[in-house]
Amino acid sequence: MIADEHSRPFRDADGRLEVGGVPLDRLAARVGSTPFFAYDRELVSRRVAEVRAALPDDLDLGYAVKANPMPAVVQHLATQVDTLDVASAGEMAIALDTGTPAERVTFAGPGKTDDELRRAVAAGVLVEVESEGEVRRLLAAGRDLGLVPRAAVRVNPDFAVKGSGMRMGGGPQQFGVDAEAVPDLMALMADLGLPLEGFHVFAGSQNLHAAILAEAQDRTVDLLLELAKQAPAPISYVNLGGGFGIPYFEKDERLDLGAVGDNLERLCSERLRPVLGDIRIGIELGRYLVGEAGVYVTRVVDRKMSRGTTYVVVDGGMHHQLAASGNFGQVIRRNYPIATDGAAREPEEVTVVGSLCTPLDLLGDRVRLPRVEVGDLVVVHQAGAYGLTASPTAFLGHPAPAEVLV
Ligand SMILES: *Cc1c(COP(=O)(O)O)cnc(C)c1O
Repeated sequence: MIADEHSRPFRDADGRLEVGGVPLDRLAARVGSTPFFAYDRELVSRRVAEVRAALPDDLDLGYAVKANPMPAVVQHLATQVDTLDVASAGEMAIALDTGTPAERVTFAGPGKTDDELRRAVAAGVLVEVESEGEVRRLLAAGRDLGLVPRAAVRVNPDFAVKGSGMRMGGGPQQFGVDAEAVPDLMALMADLGLPLEGFHVFAGSQNLHAAILAEAQDRTVDLLLELAKQAPAPISYVNLGGGFGIPYFEKDERLDLGAVGDNLERLCSERLRPVLGDIRIGIELGRYLVGEAGVYVTRVVDRKMSRGTTYVVVDGGMHHQLAASGNFGQVIRRNYPIATDGAAREPEEVTVVGSLCTPLDLLGDRVRLPRVEVGDLVVVHQAGAYGLTASPTAFLGHPAPAEVLV
């Protein structure tokens, strides 16, 4: 059972739920209210160590703050990764507050406002420009401040990655500059006096297939080498993207990290370094580092039977954990792993719903759980990434949940 597998890092020797060694009911008392998100710092560190062990030593590891911007989580990761990758000025502020030097912060995302560009230039972070208009506005911000902006070009690749949960490259995209338009943009940047540090390619997200990721990395390297050849001056930075997926659903197979790492090792040593030399080469991961290290903890408010279906109503829901309700980019709704204590109790099939007055607020559709009663805690796994940060907290006017890093 996948639910058991996901629960394993959150169970003590007697099989009771815990986070970071703190029993769940004790943690709930410490937090003071349910629902809440709990993240386990040791699990995050362990995951970073696994990734480090699999990747070549000369590859920078970046954390994509978008996945979980809780300041304590970002602070925890700041000491363990090489770069923090942000996608708004708000995330940039969180990243800089960790003490991470601006040289190691990168800023991507479509629609950076003049205000955001100005703040990025003032901070000295690397801006991954996504259009000609943005190049011009970035330069204006630099002129205004009397500073030379730091810029790389985010490239929309001329290939698409199949098997990604979310495709963010290939075909028409709001992200980046189409690969074929990059040479002209580089020439324009040179004309306008904006130095080019390098390129960023991010082709997609949530990929569980090492072979597909490896193919995407191969093609990313082809593209980067071609663009580097056409750059007006030697570049000092390339970002190969990421997209490492985590298993959410019953039939999901874990990504073969070793195979992905071996391919990156080969690409760095045989293809990139011989041509580009001692430049910064990086990847950026969000959910892979934090997604499995978090749980969303709710308390049962009601149990009711409706025409043969037992409903367990919890005090949380899709307004905090949209992804588990199936409304965050899923085509077919499937259950995130759900767990509760009381393994000794008789298992039963229940439908776990949140407290919002909408049928969309479904957390577990006909799941098997030990019998739960009003007042019991029910946790939804895989809540460390795109949980609270990706949820419509204002919907239905319930209070915001707490977050705790244990
Ligand atoms: C969202 C995003 C990421 C992180 O994706 P994960 O699936 O969380 O690893 C990385 N880079 C960019 C540019 C992104 O937009």
